[in-house]
Amino acid sequence: MSRPTRIRIDLDALQHNYQYARQLSPDSRTIAVVKADAYGHGASDVALALANSADMFAVSCLEEAMDLRNVGISNPLLLLEGCFHSDELIHCSEFDISVVIHHQHQVDMLATMTLKRPLSVWLKVDTGMHRLGVMPENAAEVFTALKAFNSVGDLTLITHLASADEADPAHTQMQLERFTAVQKQIAAQYPGVPASIANSAGLLAWPQARSDWNRPGIMLYGLSPILENDDHQGHLIPVMQFESEVIAVRTIAEGESVGYGNTWTAQRESVIATVAAGYGDGYPRTAASGTPVLVNGERARLSGRVSMDMLSIDVTDIEQVQVGDKVELWGQRLNANEVAGWCKTSGYELVTRMPKRTPRVLD
Ligand SMILES: *Cc1c(COP(=O)(O)O)cnc(C)c1O
Repeated sequence: MSRPTRIRIDLDALQHNYQYARQLSPDSRTIAVVKADAYGHGASDVALALANSADMFAVSCLEEAMDLRNVGISNPLLLLEGCFHSDELIHCSEFDISVVIHHQHQVDMLATMTLKRPLSVWLKVDTGMHRLGVMPENAAEVFTALKAFNSVGDLTLITHLASADEADPAHTQMQLERFTAVQKQIAAQYPGVPASIANSAGLLAWPQARSDWNRPGIMLYGLSPILENDDHQGHLIPVMQFESEVIAVRTIAEGESVGYGNTWTAQRESVIATVAAGYGDGYPRTAASGTPVLVNGERARLSGRVSMDMLSIDVTDIEQVQVGDKVELWGQRLNANEVAGWCKTSGYELVTRMPKRTPRVLD
């Protein structure tokens, strides 16, 4: 490999983060969420690394589930969006894939289906995210209907929290209350139905949201979703290191500008290093001048617009920066959440949107 731009995936860090998720809620089972190519980390590699420990893997859709089955993953799998067409249900039954049922049209699909093996169904309740799920007032009725279908085996109740990462607890409290009410109503007729509530933020910050099955995603990749007063990041190890090298260094006079559109102008004589990573490699073009970048472990600042294949950094205050010096765009020493704060986005998006072009190397 010649161009030095790559992401390194630290599988030990992944294991550590999974174990941390499990320790937080030792009586629960822990679903590793590996949708969207494991948030850009490589779903097969991540799932193979966690295959001996993960109680279940969650993905968005059947295609993602089959990719895991095809590399030999035999753990239980859950489709978070369920099925889009009824013919998928046959594959789910054959390959032991559980489905979320979030809408009446999916209930209708199941009603008319005959399957060799009944499906394990996760009935999603919309407690306030208002994206997927049956309304709380209809949940017991839908549950009873599903119970009667030959195509349906085990049932689990699931909901999703909209703002467990935020300091204001009101909305999460309301969601938890609505979910508890549904659970009680269903338990009156069908006791012992398992439940699943917590994503990473729920698991980290909301002990009341920990239940039979927790569903951490981002925290497995070592990024805390709690951005204010966070005391969790210290327990997590970022899994993705986005690296490149300095490929040019120059000194420019005060008043000279750097990059397309001349958006950054030197306020003094400045040393500018060019790094072989740009938006074509997954570094966001929205990153503002001033975004931190590590050179030889020291903090430099992005200067001017990010190009497709390169970006420029001001290294005036760092001694002796040379061609070939190591650059970390984000990783264990520079958290992707911090970089995201300069790019009007979240650490979730930065890691998930990495393009194929950037080679992935396993550590
Ligand atoms: C993506 C997702 C998760 C994981 O969320 P994180 O914030 O990454 O922990 C959990 N549950 C559902 C339904 C999801 O879609």
